[in-house]
Amino acid sequence: MKVLITGAAGFIGSHLVGKFLQEGWEVVGLDNLLTGRIENLQDYFSSSSFVFIKYDVTNFLYVKGELDLILHFACPASPVHYLRHPIHTMKVDSLGTLHALGLAKEKGARFVLASSSEVYGDPLEIPQKETYNGNVSPIGPRSVYDEAKRFSEALTMAYFRQHGVDVRIARIFNTYGPRMDPDDGRVIPTFIKQALLGQPLTVFGDGTQTRSFCYIDDMVEGIYSLSTEDGISGEVFNLGNPQEWKIIDVAKLVRELTDSDSPIEFRPLPQDDPRRRRPDIEKARRLLGWSPVYSLEEGLKEALPWFKERVLRP
Ligand code: UDP
Repeated sequence: MKVLITGAAGFIGSHLVGKFLQEGWEVVGLDNLLTGRIENLQDYFSSSSFVFIKYDVTNFLYVKGELDLILHFACPASPVHYLRHPIHTMKVDSLGTLHALGLAKEKGARFVLASSSEVYGDPLEIPQKETYNGNVSPIGPRSVYDEAKRFSEALTMAYFRQHGVDVRIARIFNTYGPRMDPDDGRVIPTFIKQALLGQPLTVFGDGTQTRSFCYIDDMVEGIYSLSTEDGISGEVFNLGNPQEWKIIDVAKLVRELTDSDSPIEFRPLPQDDPRRRRPDIEKARRLLGWSPVYSLEEGLKEALPWFKERVLRP
């Protein structure tokens, strides 16, 4: 079996390369390295089942030979990154998705879209079920990501309805773990780095806004099940950990687990920062038999040695 993974050098993409190789698949990884990092793939270059191609999927996309599965995971995912690259973010989740879906149709391959909890925007329904249509600003700063993911979902469903492509959509909630860029601005790598360096932990707003954090190994298992399960074509699934955390409590937990004396410093809340986010994962439990096993504390303990090596190395 052969899978094409776009965004293969990214945080989640690179872990998926590892999982599919481990399960005996041939893997073709694509990445333009805009926010992905080649070092994320260093464990896999020795495998004869892995091919990496530096390529931007907003250009016409074609690979030779048969393909069974396409995972479209290319896209800047951190608010800092997508606000720095707003137009490219919109291109990769419009042109890029179109090209990846076109290739899936051509090859008769199954297609999995990496969508996001951001399709719910600043949600008015807690927890968010897949049936909730969201509360998204079409013109706010985050719209470049939110609306692009919503467009990608619509395009994916159009290929399902018009061409019968076997598609699945994963709405991925906040995920963390090794290989996350310590400088990408997302809350967990930022707090860990600040705590390890004895710098103030920068809590935006009053820290009462919430997120629900899923450890990468759990997420990879969820995406693998969603990719390989039969009989779920055209379905959308929330994937994430339903344990909801206030950001201020995440700061305190990171400080405790790193034995850090860093103070907490409050900064202005970015525009349109969602107030609460928590997935309802009953559908994934029921149809995929999947649910996360790591608590935030357990996942952070797993991830800390990797961050220590990156952040503290001379
Ligand atoms: N956040 C924070 N300090 C930081 C970075 C982020 O308090 O240094 C907050 C941010 O305002 C948001 C939450 O942490 O409420 C999660 O932010 P992140 O950028 O990780 O991802 P998001 O879920 O907003 O896409």
